[in-house]
Formats: sequence, C-alpha cells, structure tokens
Amino acid sequence: MQRLYPLFADLRDRRVLVVGGGAVAERKLAALLDTGADILVLADQVSPAMQQWQGKGQLAVQQVNLDISGLTGLLNRWRLRRVVQQAWLVIAATDDRNLNCYLAALGKRLRVFTNVVDDLELTQFHVPAVLQRGPLQAAISSAGVAPVLARRMRSQLEVLLDESTAELAGLLARWRSPIKQRITDVSRRRQWYDDLLDGELPRLVKQRRLEAAEQYLARAVEMTASAQRPQGRVILVGAGPGDPGLLTIQALRELQQADVIVHDRLVSDEVLNLARRDAERILVAKRAGHHETTQDQIHTILLREAAAGKRVVRLKGGDPFVFGRGGEELQLLRQHAVPYSVVPGISAAMACAAYAGIPLTHRDYAHSVRLVTAHCQRSMDQLDWPALAQDSQTLAVYMGVGQLDLLRARLLACGRAAHTPFALVENGSRENQRVILGQLGELPETARDAQVKSPALLLLGEVAALGRQLHWFGGLSGQPAQAATVLRDVA
Ligand code: SAH
Repeated sequence: MQRLYPLFADLRDRRVLVVGGGAVAERKLAALLDTGADILVLADQVSPAMQQWQGKGQLAVQQVNLDISGLTGLLNRWRLRRVVQQAWLVIAATDDRNLNCYLAALGKRLRVFTNVVDDLELTQFHVPAVLQRGPLQAAISSAGVAPVLARRMRSQLEVLLDESTAELAGLLARWRSPIKQRITDVSRRRQWYDDLLDGELPRLVKQRRLEAAEQYLARAVEMTASAQRPQGRVILVGAGPGDPGLLTIQALRELQQADVIVHDRLVSDEVLNLARRDAERILVAKRAGHHETTQDQIHTILLREAAAGKRVVRLKGGDPFVFGRGGEELQLLRQHAVPYSVVPGISAAMACAAYAGIPLTHRDYAHSVRLVTAHCQRSMDQLDWPALAQDSQTLAVYMGVGQLDLLRARLLACGRAAHTPFALVENGSRENQRVILGQLGELPETARDAQVKSPALLLLGEVAALGRQLHWFGGLSGQPAQAATVLRDVA
C-alpha cells in the first residue's frame, strides 16, 4: 500500500486559499488561524464566525460569484486560476462538486496542493486529527478512510499526554542550547535526554513544582560530566479488581512507562496486556499452594531493580494500601532512600459491592463499613468481635473463604443475628463473577455447596439483601455475553 508522506508545514506569511464559506470551510479555517498563514477566503457568502475573523484581521475575504459553468463562468474560471497560482495550499470546501473538481485539476496543473473536503478521489493532501501540547504536536491520519478512528486515537493520546507535557516541552526548549553546548556528541545527548525523562523531571512538572523542576534540570546539566546513571524509582500501583476499565488513567500511564513490572497473581491478564510491551515482568506469587515468594524476596527484587536505575511498577490487585502490604514496601524504600510514589486502585470491597449491586452504606441499613481480613486464625484473634457484630454496619471481609466457620461462630457469639444477609462475591467485576446470597446462619455451608474459590469477598450486613433487587452485572441482567455469570439465590 502506498503511504502518505507526513509533513508539518510552516505556513507563516504563505498564502492559503480557502474556497467556500460554510460550516465545513469554517472548521478548516479554525485549524489554520494560528499558523500565521496569509489566508484568503473566496465565497459568495461567509459565516458569521468568518466575518468576525475577518474583522480581527485574521483572514481576508473576497465575496465572489463562484459559478464556473459554461460561458458565463469563463471569467470566474480565469479569476480562480489567478488566485490558485498565488497560493501554496488550496482547500476546496464547497458543496459544488464541479467547482471542487475544477479546483483539484487547477491545483494539479499549477502544482499547488489541494485538499478537497470529504473527497478521497480528488484530494491531494489530508488534514490530520491533531493533538497539541505546547510545541509538541501529534498528527494522526487514516488517509481519510477512517477519520473516526483517527479521532479516537487522538483522544487516547490526549489522556496519556496530559497538559504538563506542554510545560515539559517548553522547559526543554529553553534549555536546549545550553544542553547542546554541554553534550556535543549526538548519541550521548540522546541517551542523556532519555535518562532525564525517565527520572524525576516529568513528575515535578506534572505536580507544577516548576522551580524544583528547573533546579533539577540545572543539576542534571551540571552533572553531565560525571555521566551518572539515572536514579531508579518504584511506583506502587493499584491494578483494581481485574476489569481493566477500572484502572485509573494514572495507573495506565505508569504501566506504559515501566521498565519492570513486579506483580501479584491477583492482577488480571487484561490489565497486564496494557503495559509497555518491552517492560520486563516479574510475577511474585503469594497465593497458598503456588510457588511462594516471601515478602523479603519481594523487597530484594524491588531494591535490586531500582538500584539498576529502572522505573519499577509494583503492581498490586485492588488498592496497594488495603491488605496489600504496600505500607511495608514503602517503609523499605524509604529506608534505602529509593524515590517512590503511589497510585491508588479500586479495592475489592468497592468493586464487588458495585458489581453485585450492593451499596456499602445505605441510609436505611448501614451507616458504616469496615474492611477486615480473615486471613488466618491469628489475624482473626486480633479483631474486635463485639464491634464487628454490631448491626447497621457492613463488613467487607478479605481473604476470608477459608475461615467462614470461625467467622460465623464469633459473630453469632457476639450477638449478630443469624438472619443477617451476606453476599459472597467471587471474581468480582470479572467475566466469571459469581454472587452467592444467603444468611449468616448458613454461611459456611452455603459457601461449601457453591464451592466458592479465591478470590472472593464476603459482604455481610443488612445491605447484602439489596443484591437480589439491584444486581445488574451478570446472567440475570440479560446480557448473553456474560452468560457464564450466575447469581445463585439460595436464601
Ligand atoms: N489490595 C487488594 C486486596 C488484597 S487481599 C484490594 O484492595 O482489593 C486479597 C483478597 O482481596 C482476596 O482474598 C479477596 O478477598 C479480595 N479480592 C481481590 N480481588 C477480588 C475480586 N476480583 N473479587 C473478589 N474478591 C477479591
């Protein structure tokens, strides 16, 4: 397939001719206004916006009769030829196909690139979808065949390249010549820029700590002589419950910038697929029954990768600070003076509640929520059972599938009613989500019958009964694509 040759044209003081005065011409003009082009509009009538631009001196308008047919049009054809000849670019934005054809033919003959709006056959150059961040400009073209896709791609880039990119580009532009003087070798300079951008600078700019960014850059330029390695860093990122749509935009950005991703088994493949292709992945499994990586081993890996100057994303299911040992990892990094940051994620309690239609709080049924873990008997011994057994509150119990007998016994002993509703949400937010509803009195038996497996979250409290009424995700909501999902109603 023949490719288009992309180019960014400097139109300052160069004549650009736009033929047509309607909405289409207006759109094309909007993109031309701040290029400094010498714009001439030919039309029998121009829109109010164009009149305003004309009033501000941003473009010139010639109101002319554009009829080129037959003998009467002879003079108009001759005039058009004159103006096209003086232009560098022509945009034909009229709804008269004859006229557009004529302009395209003129352009060809006079070697003036002509864009015929919405006409793939006639057009000689395409106007791309554009993303602008300061002096940085990305232009995306589908050669006119799928403009909607091009626009969507632009929107995706828009999300990735936030507004701070413009500030960053401006900063680098100001420092360009001192840097060039200091590092004369081209390939060394490129490497230096890469290292710089892998380091702290983008983050400082993003946080609008512009003075600190300037100082950082100055120091980096100072240090070029000693050719230091960039400093590694660790970003603790919450991957959410599994559905990649529940990642934050920031998490996505971090995944795409990572050199190394150290992740748990709980992180879904769909999420991992969004990471930079050539990022190294290290699985640190901690689930019982699998090859186990101890927390100490994880610490060693994090320190080793950061010491090698890498950008390490420590990716955890849900939120890193909710039963994720994120705190311990940060303490370690702090001890070793490794820079870090944290991106929160949607924790299982929020995700499972939402995807099972169970509001965690409700004015009539629950005024507080407690996140607890029932990992093992020891962790359960540390819980305040009388407080947990109070009514009008919701318990979200993590890692509790193995301890349901003990859990029921303690709650009943402390006075929680046997008819308190519960929901067990297995694989919450994922395609294979199951929700099992029941009452505290039969909790362990119900779970065994349904063979509930990890990862599953227990929601216990009056609100759990609402799951029957408010469920929306899964088989019962009538979406055949999710037929595998069942809501087992055993109460
Ligand atoms: N940091 C995580 C929790 C890690 S502990 C978070 O914030 O979600 C692991 C436990 O989380 C699992 O045993 C299970 O109880 C719960 N969990 C995580 N993802 C889940 C999911 N998709 N569905 C149900 N429970 C989940």
